[in-house]
Amino acid sequence: AVVAAGALLLAGCSGTSNGDATGGASGGDGGLIGVAMPTKSSERWINDGNAVKEQLEKAGYTVDLQYAEDKIPTQVSQIENMITKGAKALIIASIDGTTLTSVLQEAADNNIPVIAYDRLIRDSQNVNYYASFDNYKVGVQQATSVLNGLGLVDLEGKKKSDAPKGPFNIELFAGSPDDNNATFFWKGAVDTLDPYMKDGTLVVKSGQKEFQQAATLRWDGEAAQSRMEDILTANYSDGSKVNAVLSPYDGISRGIISALTDAGYTVGAGWPIISGQDAELDSVKAINRGEQFATIFKDTRKLAEVAVDMATAILQGKEPEVNNTTDYNNGVKVVPSYLLESQIVVKDNIKDTLVSSGYYTEAEITG
Ligand code: BGC
Repeated sequence: AVVAAGALLLAGCSGTSNGDATGGASGGDGGLIGVAMPTKSSERWINDGNAVKEQLEKAGYTVDLQYAEDKIPTQVSQIENMITKGAKALIIASIDGTTLTSVLQEAADNNIPVIAYDRLIRDSQNVNYYASFDNYKVGVQQATSVLNGLGLVDLEGKKKSDAPKGPFNIELFAGSPDDNNATFFWKGAVDTLDPYMKDGTLVVKSGQKEFQQAATLRWDGEAAQSRMEDILTANYSDGSKVNAVLSPYDGISRGIISALTDAGYTVGAGWPIISGQDAELDSVKAINRGEQFATIFKDTRKLAEVAVDMATAILQGKEPEVNNTTDYNNGVKVVPSYLLESQIVVKDNIKDTLVSSGYYTEAEITG
């Protein structure tokens, strides 16, 4: 079975420095900010929530941090509660980006600014700013990591002169269709893989090349595991092998790994190249062991900083800093965004990316 990464870690970013040294200097003499996160079943959101809370408290705010365990009505009522409690601003990582329209109208009626955190909130006028990563580029990086693992390109995506011809069998997984990010990751990845699929270097043996076929509702690792099992049974019972799997998220990668292991694949020669996302600790260990080839590191501490800076700027009557005002149309308007850069992590650069940035200690990764 797939084991959710669980609640253990966050050691890197959960300092206990909520010392009350705010002195009111930044004008932030308290007041409540509501922070709505999707689920604790994935470690990244625990890290995000802790980082946002810690940084807001440092800036002098009180924080109501809630997790909705991927239940949409729970998230809606948590946000309603925050409004009732008098929140001055809301920072929201949505579960389904299309389900918050009416609760955000309530927020607007109460003059509460809203920051969409990591995931764009769709179909609402009442989203003031968006803090995220360059999600299309994350998809490009995921595909690049797969191509790199197959020996076709370097980590910058440059074609290798001694690249093998293949053909390689690849299977494709996408994220949750109700998460705006999932289509961005998919588009970036598929645009990158497309030339190799067209020239026959990569073959999707299952034929499942459409987003809807590849999507994984709520990013559920167990659902991905059973889809992978079905694909293996239906398409690889003739002795052919899967050489690579495009996976958009570490939890999905763990499900895929379980399916492969159950089908008799063993790590070593013939084990497929598998991508991921979030640099969850269990998956970084899996990269060290050679089970997963790569993940994408998105520094949750930096994302928290962007969101906190946006909230504090708005509350001080200033304009938050943005660096993208074109790409994120939520169906009603283009939401001004600040997008961070992500990094490909493979076994060879774990230290240079995750350890040197202090995201994990060396002991955590090897332990
Ligand atoms: C986030 C990813 C994460 C996924 C599943 C996406 O919205 O951007 O970092 O892997 O949700 O939690």
